Amino acid sequence: MSSKGKLFAMHLHDNDGRWDQHAPLGHGTVDLTGLKVPHYVAVPGMNAVCREMAAELSDCRFEWRAQGAAFDGARWQVRASDGREVEADALLITTPPAQAMELLAGTPARSACREALGRIRMRPCWALMTALDRPLLTDWDAAFVNQGPLGWICSQAARPGRPAAEAWVLHATPEWSQEHLEQDPENVAEALLEAALSLPGVARAEREFSLAHRWRFALAEQPQDQGCHWFDGYRLGLAGDWCAGSRVEGAYLSGAAAAGALLGSAVARAGMPAGAMG
Ligand SMILES: Cc1cc2nc3c(=O)[nH]c(=O)nc-3n(C[C@H](O)[C@H](O)[C@H](O)COP(=O)(O)OP(=O)(O)OC[C@H]3O[C@@H](n4cnc5c(N)ncnc54)[C@H](O)[C@@H]3O)c2cc1C
Repeated sequence: MSSKGKLFAMHLHDNDGRWDQHAPLGHGTVDLTGLKVPHYVAVPGMNAVCREMAAELSDCRFEWRAQGAAFDGARWQVRASDGREVEADALLITTPPAQAMELLAGTPARSACREALGRIRMRPCWALMTALDRPLLTDWDAAFVNQGPLGWICSQAARPGRPAAEAWVLHATPEWSQEHLEQDPENVAEALLEAALSLPGVARAEREFSLAHRWRFALAEQPQDQGCHWFDGYRLGLAGDWCAGSRVEGAYLSGAAAAGALLGSAVARAGMPAGAMG
């Protein structure tokens, strides 16, 4: 993760003590353009960022897939795939746009949302986790490749708190991922590994393990910069990285913008002056 703006940087720094796991990735890349700002890694896994922020929330449900939403003019009902429902005064959706539109398909908010989200295209990313019998690169920990199928490669062992095994993450470029979207994961794994092993300076290595994963909605083609979409009449917010410049920082900023819109709306409805909440 990295931070270009102050708000997310403050969050990372504030957590530096508790997240003493955060540490800059090593340097020495093929192309340093993207690494001019410090990069951070959460330990033991990237989801530690969300886990920490959610720790104080009283009702957090995991493995809970929303299947549909309904709005009766006053309250939202969201139905899970197992049939259970939750009700709320307001709804914030932070899925990629296509999935938000699916959830809202049967609601009066669908047209307004389609207008706001219709032009946003998300691009896919095939990602490969592979373990090798020897280092892929010896002088570098991470590199923007951006040539052939590969966009980015990174050593897991170089990341703080990760096992020392020769595990590498290889990301395909959005273009290659789109072209090979429906390909078999095993073929994708072969192609990405072959491309990595053909990079200049890379010694032949045998793979001990590999797993390719397709992120269908990985990156907005043209991310927006408005923070979030708030539809006051429906008390509905749409947010996500695609709304605030992409990446983890964008997701954080978009979530903060949606929370601000929700609180502002609640204050206005209660007829309180804005300062009265604190
Ligand atoms: C392979 C890869 C590597 C990346 N590396 C980096 C990096 O190094 N640094 C960086 O800053 N960014 C990176 N990113 C981008 C970063 O992951 C995203 O910017 C960030 O995760 C966006 O967060 P989000 O909350 O907006 O959306 P998401 O992370 O996409 O979260 C949306 C969530 O909604 C859930 N969801 C969807 N539909 C439903 C439903 N019906 N019911 C319930 N839940 C639902 C999904 O399961 C998902 O968990 C990477 C992305 C990918 C794909």
